Amino acid sequence: MGNSVTEPAAPRHDPDCLFCRIIAGEIPSERVHEDDRVIAFKDLHPQAPVHVLVVPRAHRRDVTELAEDPELLAHTAQVAADVAAEQADGEFRLIFNTGASAGQSVFHVHAHVLAGGKLAEGAL
Ligand code: 5GP
Repeated sequence: MGNSVTEPAAPRHDPDCLFCRIIAGEIPSERVHEDDRVIAFKDLHPQAPVHVLVVPRAHRRDVTELAEDPELLAHTAQVAADVAAEQADGEFRLIFNTGASAGQSVFHVHAHVLAGGKLAEGAL
């Protein structure tokens, strides 16, 4: 009462969202990392020797919405770097497709981590 600060609505589990269902364990995935804020699992159709998706547990549509929580955005990037160091040599490409015309097909924010060798120009 009397507090003029409006808290953003907490992002909820969306039962129609593929990645919410993977996070909930309803759909299997090959996980390489998980903590209380993000999970990381291997992409079903890898575009590089190492192709991992780092996915915040909270349902946010894209990196624009993720950026509303700078700590979570930073944590997502840190986990991407850790995965690249564990699975490859620590060098990696980090991609957030944002919007259908940019190639986003799953509208639950995820960072593609591509690593493990000389990457083709324009992969993804
Ligand atoms: P986007 O096109 O949205 O940037 O990336 C979605 C990614 O999710 C694609 O690279 C696609 O291969 C991957 N993907 C789609 N469905 C599944 C799935 O059921 N399991 C896993 N592990 N990856 C998936």
